[in-house]
Amino acid sequence: NFRLAPNFDAQAQSALLHPNPKLEQCLANSAAKGLPPISVLPMSGQHLSILAQLMGVKSVLEIGTLGGYSSICFAEAGAKVTSIEIDPKHRDTALENVSGLDVEILLGSALEVLPKLAEEGRQFDMVFIDADFEDQWEHFDWAVKLTRLGGCIFLDDVIPSMIKNGQEEGGETIITQIGRDERVQATLMPTVACHSMIPNPVFTGFILAVVKSH
Ligand code: SAM
Repeated sequence: NFRLAPNFDAQAQSALLHPNPKLEQCLANSAAKGLPPISVLPMSGQHLSILAQLMGVKSVLEIGTLGGYSSICFAEAGAKVTSIEIDPKHRDTALENVSGLDVEILLGSALEVLPKLAEEGRQFDMVFIDADFEDQWEHFDWAVKLTRLGGCIFLDDVIPSMIKNGQEEGGETIITQIGRDERVQATLMPTVACHSMIPNPVFTGFILAVVKSH
């Protein structure tokens, strides 16, 4: 039973985020091309950037490119980004938006591309999972194999799928699945999301996991 200060998100955003032409151009071009406005929120993008800088991340694997907003956040934080996108229109728009940055975009379904990256022996400092809810567990499982020991996995938007799966499948959720996984140490960070597409703030959250073994 608590109340959020009115416009707390807008206040924080205007205080803490500084103009970034590349990100602004990304949002404008993505909107002009008709992409859905579902990139990470600017404050979350800044959070990803800070996390990458704190870890000294040099390589990021991203599942779900959309128009490349989060890719730009990682690339500007100093990482080489490999991003997977299933939709050719999203991939093409992202390629325009990330021009000049160290970002490669692999077109295809993540569950087809991820095994190929594993076969090639690729390893990443960090994996950011931000694609469809249905495959979150499979994406996480591949992410563990593709993250170097001591690297981290950031799984976005877990609470909506927890609620949905918990209701439909008798309590089994992405959290319980990750909790049984002895290869990782993981935490759940609940967050409040404020978005122009939704009238009221909603609870969501992310899983942050460190990979201890393969
Ligand atoms: N990370 C992006 C950002 O912050 O700008 C937002 C990603 S958006 C929430 C999800 C994207 O994942 C969409 O572009 C969608 O087409 C893509 N996607 C959904 N399912 C996928 C799958 N199975 N494999 C690869 N990409 C997928």
